[in-house]
Amino acid sequence: MTLALGCIADDYTGASDLANTLTRSGMRTVQTIGVPDDGLALPDVDAVVVSLKSRSIAAADAVQRSRAAERWLRGQGAAHVLFKICSTFDSTDKGNIGPVMDALRADSGDAIVLVTPAFPGTGRTVFQGNLFIGSVPLNESPLKDHPLNPMHDSNLVRVLSRQSQTNIALVDLATVAKGADAVRKRLDELLVQGTGAAIVDAVFDSHLEIIGKAAIGHRLSVGASGIGLGLARAIIARGTTLAQASIANEKPVGGPVACLAGSCSQATLAQVMEAEKSMPVLHLDPEAIVTGDAEVARALDWARPHLGNRPILIVSSLTPDQVAAVQKKHGRVAAGHAIEQAMATISERLADAGVRRFVIAGGETSGAVVDRLGVPGFFVDAEIAPGVPVLRAVGWQRGEAVMALKSGNFGGPDFFNDAIRLMP
Ligand code: ADP
Repeated sequence: MTLALGCIADDYTGASDLANTLTRSGMRTVQTIGVPDDGLALPDVDAVVVSLKSRSIAAADAVQRSRAAERWLRGQGAAHVLFKICSTFDSTDKGNIGPVMDALRADSGDAIVLVTPAFPGTGRTVFQGNLFIGSVPLNESPLKDHPLNPMHDSNLVRVLSRQSQTNIALVDLATVAKGADAVRKRLDELLVQGTGAAIVDAVFDSHLEIIGKAAIGHRLSVGASGIGLGLARAIIARGTTLAQASIANEKPVGGPVACLAGSCSQATLAQVMEAEKSMPVLHLDPEAIVTGDAEVARALDWARPHLGNRPILIVSSLTPDQVAAVQKKHGRVAAGHAIEQAMATISERLADAGVRRFVIAGGETSGAVVDRLGVPGFFVDAEIAPGVPVLRAVGWQRGEAVMALKSGNFGGPDFFNDAIRLMP
């Protein structure tokens, strides 16, 4: 197998979003959980997205994991590697975007790297190096209050300069609008001036296509799903991608369906209420979860008689006031971790009982479940809602499985049934 595109994503749901974008663009794509073992038999694909959890860990660890992912991707023949970051450039002055970019640039031997988090389809645009979230600059958006990575500066040339050892410059919109040759020429000029990376403006998808054409001639690029779209279009234009074999016709997985909701977002709370109309729902007692194992046992006793008859839904989600009360008593991190691990244990026991179709609501919750189940990777299938594909397990010890992993605010009101309909 020779990969047309290798990607390293700094979190799981961001990886799914990118894998979904690449698939919808016409590339056969697999998302792996971590750097695969040598034994993993990958199907023939055009792109692999290696999912890491490296966005908010110590920079040195993020560098080490990303370098291992890059080595593996190059070993699979990837000529170009995209380091996938959040479209809101989530990072601090310590990293992790700059340090990872510097290390991958050194390993790739790329003289200058194109960087853009622009993704106009989701309202992320870059002009004069400033990132806009919808109509407001990044530093006026809700990201200014992000609990881990508060963003107080919308000028990405400055933001990345503080994180990187190399000189950062701008390729402005006027240059991008002239086309890929103009971008290449500008990069050549910047290179002579000693620039190692350039923030590239983009306001429309057509700009991403131009950036993709220029970037694909390099070994490395940095950006969100938007530059993924541009790279995919550049690769597809070469006419060397694999035919889109219809995985929709593959053998149904069948068997019982289990849904778990650990997200407390407004969208998920509304989706749980809608699901109550059509399936049995168990509301866990978070207090009991944090203080012992009995609640997990209660959930499994409740679930077993239903399995196979109808889909079931197990929920820890509560309203913000109720969540705040639990957090006040037990601490935000401790409560969150205990509930995620309880969800992971419930999923594992349900898998022991034969469940092979899972729908999980919540980014961290999904990460905990997938890690515990030990699924090494996923093939990206049909789209349930924007940014949420059906995922088919690849190389799982327990065999075939389908999953839907959604970050809290994604999906329409009847998300759980929408997902189940596409997961035969
Ligand atoms: P989202 O995608 O909406 O951010 P996540 O799963 O990433 O959802 O995050 C939700 C966090 O809230 C998880 O750490 C989860 O364990 C925690 N959580 C879930 N239910 C409760 C609850 N009732 N009280 C406190 N924390 C909760």
